[in-house]
Amino acid sequence: MPELPEMEAWRRQLDDPVSAFPIAKAGPAHIATLKTFDPPLSALEGRRLSGAERRGKRLFFPTDDGELVLVIHLMTSGRLKFLKAGEKGPKTPAFALELADGSKLVLTENARRKRAGVWLLTPEAAEAEVSHLGPDALGIGAPALTEILRRESHRLHPLLRDQRALAGIGRAWSNEILHTAKLSPYALSTDLDDEEIGRLAAAIDDDLARGLALREQGASDERTYRVHNRLGEPCHVCETPIARVDFEEHTIYYCPRCQTGGRVLKDRRLSRLLR
Ligand SMILES: [Zn+2]
Repeated sequence: MPELPEMEAWRRQLDDPVSAFPIAKAGPAHIATLKTFDPPLSALEGRRLSGAERRGKRLFFPTDDGELVLVIHLMTSGRLKFLKAGEKGPKTPAFALELADGSKLVLTENARRKRAGVWLLTPEAAEAEVSHLGPDALGIGAPALTEILRRESHRLHPLLRDQRALAGIGRAWSNEILHTAKLSPYALSTDLDDEEIGRLAAAIDDDLARGLALREQGASDERTYRVHNRLGEPCHVCETPIARVDFEEHTIYYCPRCQTGGRVLKDRRLSRLLR
């Protein structure tokens, strides 16, 4: 799932090319991908985008006349590709936007259930669409993070993933950040002392910046993640095998030595909690 580092790398990569030429053709879009019908996608044709912006994990592409915003959310398996004029692309993209020079922005989603979304909205409606988002995770800093952590008592892993609390982090970067901060994924947010909060704020910045730098170089998941999806592999700090635990509907990866004082976390699957 693309999270803040992946989407910010895309934003930086797309900012210039999407605004270089006016839009020649907007669409086609898969019926499940396009979430709005009024205004129609064709309203984009002839207009020029002013660039790419990011809100949490979503990309915003405003038109330079200030009237419309194209919003893209990749969800779990949506992927973007920018094709130069004449470059071959996927046969049936979930969404395509062609510029006047023949270059194209295409969205693909290799999944049975299409969950990625494209919206064409007025600027006001686009902002309303993201009004539930908490502050951006990148550069959050200890004072703002303290307020988020102390508001209510939540376990750290789900709290970091909660877009209403903090925007941009999903399960992969929660795993990376909590490992860097040497905090248990199950620790309660209200139990953290100032020193631990400082460590967590620093880890958020360090890991997201590390991820962004790697993704800008086109690094694979394998090269980017050090903890996420690395069950049984040696921890890069202490060489203890990375462990895995199921919490509600998510799988969490962690180092039992660096993060939980040697304790193995117990599964807390939603199915079991509901029983
Ligand atoms: Zn370790």
